[in-house]
Amino acid sequence: MFIIRTFIHSCSHHAWGLDNLRAPEASQLSEKQEILHKSGNEEQEDVRKTIKKLPKSHQKLVKSYKFKFQKNNTLNGDHDHIGENDEDKKIITVCAPWNYGREFTLLHEIGHLVWTHFMTDALKDQWKKAYEEAEMLKKDRQNPEEIFCHAYAATFSQRPPMAYYKPKWVKLIKTIN
Ligand SMILES: [Zn+2]
Repeated sequence: MFIIRTFIHSCSHHAWGLDNLRAPEASQLSEKQEILHKSGNEEQEDVRKTIKKLPKSHQKLVKSYKFKFQKNNTLNGDHDHIGENDEDKKIITVCAPWNYGREFTLLHEIGHLVWTHFMTDALKDQWKKAYEEAEMLKKDRQNPEEIFCHAYAATFSQRPPMAYYKPKWVKLIKTIN
């Protein structure tokens, strides 16, 4: 069985907007959004919107996937991980981490799929060079794939943590397909 779980990363240097945390007032929701809100499909609609932002070839990777959300900071029964991709069952599970947005965590998991399916050795070398230039990330002690997934998530997140959003990385990531 092939399952990848996402570790909780130290991220005190991340800038998160507070308004990110505020739920929209009912009056701010469009009629359609309100219906989805009520029917409990709001998350799935958000997932669909996020996936639509990705390059077509990346969208195909998650076409038959189901997305599950859990309410706690870490995955049920596992205090070290905030996301999981079960490639056999085709289920991505995301919890509600304290330091990251759920969109970010979801995209991080998709980043693993992109790494597995599209990163050639040449691209991996290119990536290693690009992230090693960012000195501060050495502190994170993450492997190249984990940092790639964070950068991937930052590239397509609505509100990326700035530590992982670098124009050079975005440019490289957008060429992968
Ligand atoms: Zn990961």
